[in-house]
Amino acid sequence: MPESVIDLRSDTVTRPTAEMRRAMFEAEVGDDVYQEDPTVNALEARAAEVLGKEAALFVPTGTMGNTIAIKCLTRPGQEVICEARGHLLNYELSMTAWFSNCLIRSIHTPDGILTWPLIEKEIRPLGPHAADTGCIEIENTHNMAGGTVYPLEVIDEICDRAHGRGIAVHMDGARVFNAAVAASLPVSRICAQVDTVMCCLSKALGAPVGSMLAGPKSVIDQGRLYRKRLGGGMRQAGILAAAGLIALERMPLRLQEDHANAKLVASGLAAIPGIRVEPETPATNIVIFDISATGKSSQEISAALKARGVLINGINPTTMRAVTHYDVDRRGCETALAALAEVVAA
Ligand SMILES: *Cc1c(COP(=O)(O)O)cnc(C)c1O
Repeated sequence: MPESVIDLRSDTVTRPTAEMRRAMFEAEVGDDVYQEDPTVNALEARAAEVLGKEAALFVPTGTMGNTIAIKCLTRPGQEVICEARGHLLNYELSMTAWFSNCLIRSIHTPDGILTWPLIEKEIRPLGPHAADTGCIEIENTHNMAGGTVYPLEVIDEICDRAHGRGIAVHMDGARVFNAAVAASLPVSRICAQVDTVMCCLSKALGAPVGSMLAGPKSVIDQGRLYRKRLGGGMRQAGILAAAGLIALERMPLRLQEDHANAKLVASGLAAIPGIRVEPETPATNIVIFDISATGKSSQEISAALKARGVLINGINPTTMRAVTHYDVDRRGCETALAALAEVVAA
């Protein structure tokens, strides 16, 4: 993409910073399948510390991190509880079925946030007709619900009660650093009670590639074998981990800026006739908006925006999603809003 394009399709589109590129150039490397890459080892140790877990594993993608976590926390034939719009259920090519041989039991919520009372009704003990619940998956922040954030007490209650019934909890924390900034809490506190957490370095944190899966050492050791099976045993991966270390150290500090820009985008959108933003005030960096009253489809709006150098995608014919990130500043957001107002009025 040329520099001038304003790309709000996702926070995955960020390019590595100059500091990341320098660190990649200078990275000390070894063969990570032998666990001899010092930069990967440093990243895994630091991620475990930041996430407050015993150990962490560097994986190429968030999807692989979630896939490994679900595999480690379940047995074939069990169920996994997940929110209905969850990434695990909708955007990971049914890996829960394919790799873990488990079925997802989904729960609809208005805001993407599961609570213990909602979950409890769907927990099944093993019996002549039902498969038992192997694990519960919570997505924080929740992508398709508009970057919503789990209240801490809701996470802790889910974990307490689930553990009381011998059920593990995995957090899909692709954007858990955004959740931490929004809640003004250390990320280690947010995931203190979950068994495993996956977080993406390649989204809001700006690294070119990579995610972390963190949890108890026994789970991460087992996860390392599943990573190899899935084709994720990388060799001189320190080149990538070097950027990941900077993502982890430096980038969380600036996420507030993305959240402020998302609020600016949301209020600007709400002022355009025919557009309704839901939730009205985004908690983090994702803005979901309904365009059905504009008389145009999201595809038409996307195409007209693209012609004006602005990229925003629809998630269905009447709903669109804008994601703020490091590569689009406040000015860029204002320009995108002006383009949208023009396109809708045309
Ligand atoms: C992006 C994303 C993932 C997976 O990330 P990939 O690296 O694209 O595989 C998982 N969960 C959520 C909520 C995401 O937004």
